[in-house]
Amino acid sequence: MAALFEHGLFAHVVVLITLFLFSPGFCVSPSSTRPNILIVFADDLGYGDLSCYGHPTSESPNIDKLAAEGLLFTQFYSANSVCSPSRAALLTARLPPRTGIWPGVFVPSSTGGLPHNETTIAALLKPLGYATTIIGKWHLGVGKNQTYLPTNYGFDSYYGIPYSHDMCPCLKCFYPGDACWDKCDTGYTNCPLYRNNTLFEQPVDLTTLSKRYSIEARNFIARNAKSGTPFFLYYSTQHTHHPQFASKDFRNTTWRGTFGDSLAELDWEVGQILEELKLQNLEENTFVFFTSDNGPSLVREVRGGNAGPLKCGKGTTYEGGHRVPAFAYWPGTIRPGKTMELAGTLDLLPTIANLVDAKLPNVTLDGFDIGPLLFQRAKSPRDTFFYFYSSASPKYGLYAIRYKQYKAHYYTQGSGTSGSKNHDKDCRPTDNPTAHDLPLLFNLDEDPSESYNLSNDPKYAAILTRINNIKKEFEAGLVWAESEVHKGHSQDVEPCCKPGCTPFPTCCTCT
Ligand code: MG
Repeated sequence: MAALFEHGLFAHVVVLITLFLFSPGFCVSPSSTRPNILIVFADDLGYGDLSCYGHPTSESPNIDKLAAEGLLFTQFYSANSVCSPSRAALLTARLPPRTGIWPGVFVPSSTGGLPHNETTIAALLKPLGYATTIIGKWHLGVGKNQTYLPTNYGFDSYYGIPYSHDMCPCLKCFYPGDACWDKCDTGYTNCPLYRNNTLFEQPVDLTTLSKRYSIEARNFIARNAKSGTPFFLYYSTQHTHHPQFASKDFRNTTWRGTFGDSLAELDWEVGQILEELKLQNLEENTFVFFTSDNGPSLVREVRGGNAGPLKCGKGTTYEGGHRVPAFAYWPGTIRPGKTMELAGTLDLLPTIANLVDAKLPNVTLDGFDIGPLLFQRAKSPRDTFFYFYSSASPKYGLYAIRYKQYKAHYYTQGSGTSGSKNHDKDCRPTDNPTAHDLPLLFNLDEDPSESYNLSNDPKYAAILTRINNIKKEFEAGLVWAESEVHKGHSQDVEPCCKPGCTPFPTCCTCT
């Protein structure tokens, strides 16, 4: 040491370390190998629905805090434009054709579900000593004897409605007794609320649901903080899916009407969770990720959400169907800011696996570890994104590919969930599947609204050839698993807390 001082080397080393630590490019790496993992998954929340993404009358101070103090993504993709395939992809890092979650979504009478050999984020974390739970919407099957509920996939516990709350008669959406604006699916049993595999409330009281979800989440965090157990909380809120609902604290409280009230309650849920993390002194040891399962349900018109500058919405392979708001939040570890790098829900499992040193499942994964992007602001390892239609099928296969800033559409199709009155006829359900032998080509960096087709310009021939080759290579490695959604339907699997009662399905009630 004396020699170092003599030669002035020690001082040099100190100066160099100081310069490195305080240079603008410096970012810390996660220090703990067992951080808590918290995913907040909103439902049908579009790219343009939050004030931090430009909505002029949305109010969500707690979510805006994540945006301001976390890393906001401008090019983050959900793996599909409707619920079940999107949710399967988030949890498994696999595109829906590989897991069999096609075409479309499960309904209460569906006999299929997520195949049991699929590895979810929960199943990955559980062997490492994590406490794992899901609160909210599951939408990957219920099945006979609850064989497809979350506790069969690495989750220690479950509290929630196992599918969308419009897949049952809509009775009461607002305190003290305002009717829902939609009747929803009256042919199915009343909305069920489960704790683990037990159905204990039917129909669910939506006006108190958010409060109960939040209490469950806070108790889970507090319990694990007390025992020093790392946890995975998958908070899969029912908001802002239609029909919007809210408790008395949020009813008629916002500028934006019904959707605004639902968003305000979602924002409150996020605030409750963040408050508990802070109270338990866990903020600096918890990786929080907030995003949405798909774009806005434009068919609901003024109550249907907003895709901002993006084309179409839920159900389509245009940007409005797939590109969603997203933030990563980890005070002290993720530097606040904004990134335009490509990433998506498929990337969460590989990123979390690397973060906690978990072994990746030995199957084809469609995601990348985006840790270097999150923690060092490195380039994203993702430069492609593959779009499958909401009702995907091997007959049509891949609809579109994004490569860097370019997106080529091989098929385009509108969707019922993007609205028959949509001002853009490409989004409407009457727009049948259309093959484009010369794919439509858009530069999304310059034209995020997909308005100006470039494929007739010879200048882009090389890009089209490159994307065509990516398509060939991808399709050669794609094996379509048998459809779980087509497996069948049976009244026997519909949740009913009075099995065998009559008249079915209205007799299925319990409180
Ligand atoms: Mg959804």
